[in-house]
Amino acid sequence: MYQTKNRDMQPEMFAGHYGVSFLVKKAEPRLPLWTLFLATQLVDILWAIFVLLGIERYRIAPGTASLPLDLYYMPYTHSLAAAVAWSAVVFALCRWVIPLSGLRSNRSAGFLALAVFSHWVLDLVVHRPDLPLYDNAYKVGFGLWNFPLPALVLESVFLFGGVWFYLRSTKATSFAGRYGTMFFGLAILGVHCLLLWGPLPPSTTAGAIRLGALYLILAAAAYWLEKKRTPLT
Ligand SMILES: [Zn+2]
Repeated sequence: MYQTKNRDMQPEMFAGHYGVSFLVKKAEPRLPLWTLFLATQLVDILWAIFVLLGIERYRIAPGTASLPLDLYYMPYTHSLAAAVAWSAVVFALCRWVIPLSGLRSNRSAGFLALAVFSHWVLDLVVHRPDLPLYDNAYKVGFGLWNFPLPALVLESVFLFGGVWFYLRSTKATSFAGRYGTMFFGLAILGVHCLLLWGPLPPSTTAGAIRLGALYLILAAAAYWLEKKRTPLT
């Protein structure tokens, strides 16, 4: 019934990943929200960079399939092996290298690495089988995106579930802090819908730049917004 015929559909999870950012922020408040925004989308940010460098590849195929983005080669960002490796790199960076206050603990580094790894797990639910286990082989994906409405509901539940937990564990220090986070959540969902039903990017390069820029802009917004609330404890 919900089988998509929409040529503008993209087989990616977007908004749902940010639900994890907010959830991990509640679990480990010492981690800045903006780092969690980057962490849950890290492999997509790397994907955008790798596409621009010609290391990973995809096709835009409007009208030829129910899902117009053919993510046929992304072994270094979206294989299970790569997700584990990037999570380990982030753990090591935060445990021993990056001198941000409060980050140099096993707990903080572990939660940040978990945020990185969560991307692959959530992608597994929505992607059609284009996620390799390692290299470019044994591709998996449960394909929830073939059913756009349940997929959108799931993403919204993740996103606003995370926002709800975050709001409950912090208090506003200003007007923007009181209403900003909920507005931010709605804006993320709005961007998500634009990606789904807005125009396709004119080229694979433009598509990678558009997504990469979005991730950085949303992380910057999270950086600004987080200053408007403080943890309850
Ligand atoms: Zn992804």
